[in-house]
Amino acid sequence: MSPPVFRFAPSPNGYLHLGHAYSALLNFDLARRAGGSFLLRVEDIDVTRCRPEFEAAIYEDLAWLGISWETPVRRQSEHLARYREAVEGLSAQGLIYPSFESRSEIARLVAQREAAGPWPRDPDGAPLYPGAAKSLSPGQRQRLMAQSVPYALRLDMEAALASMNELAWQEHGAGPAGEHGLVNASPQAWGDVVLARKETPTSYHLSVVIDDALQGVTDVVRGRDLFWSTSVHRLLQRLLGIPQPAYRHHRLIEDASGHKLSKSTQATALRELRRQGVTPADIRRLAGLPDDARTTTGGC
Ligand code: GLU
Repeated sequence: MSPPVFRFAPSPNGYLHLGHAYSALLNFDLARRAGGSFLLRVEDIDVTRCRPEFEAAIYEDLAWLGISWETPVRRQSEHLARYREAVEGLSAQGLIYPSFESRSEIARLVAQREAAGPWPRDPDGAPLYPGAAKSLSPGQRQRLMAQSVPYALRLDMEAALASMNELAWQEHGAGPAGEHGLVNASPQAWGDVVLARKETPTSYHLSVVIDDALQGVTDVVRGRDLFWSTSVHRLLQRLLGIPQPAYRHHRLIEDASGHKLSKSTQATALRELRRQGVTPADIRRLAGLPDDARTTTGGC
């Protein structure tokens, strides 16, 4: 069996905090312990929020923590053509349709639906797509596109699931309710997810599965907040005919009031902690990781 491949895949839309340090160190320790490799991937598809100074800070903070990674680093913004190709493939299978509502129109449609009773929400709490764009005719779609109306390319979940039998993944960590072992995927809980937009030819879900496959990632170790996204990832892997890695969703590091750490809170940013004299060994302790990678059992 070839050695395992782990990865840490931050988005450069803010400074890394203690939660990122935990995730990166956990991946790095697991890779070292298994004699595998550790990759760093920069998930920078959102040009409105990603900034070069945040990317530079990622390299600096990880190196300070004592982490090293293979080069070259894959930067998603450099591979948009690859993602576009995958969208075209799904589209050729009749699994994609464009929707043209703005965010505020969608909010209005949801409010309308909710007047008649609860409207379903995805595992992140966002309302499912309430629109009727799926039933637009090819002519109507062409007309709207010709008028340069912004659009989102959505996965037709019903069509995608039509020929799908059991979908599951191997979970080595735990989900929000302690799910472990073979977990059944339920992509329908996400509705017709957006896979690309007019201005961005991909999405988190699409590029993450393509990159994990292209980079030969065998073990995805990431925060529990992404646990249910794995349902969509498993579906996309099946539709695109790409292999599935094993998953290990780890605990999230919380602040003193029990909230998930956020990139917008400067207090736990690694560079701020460093400025205050906190050492990399302190960070390991604060994150609940053992000092020495050789003795770690993972800390999930
Ligand atoms: N880029 C994602 C984030 O920063 C992580 C993606 C993943 O690990 O699957 O939250």
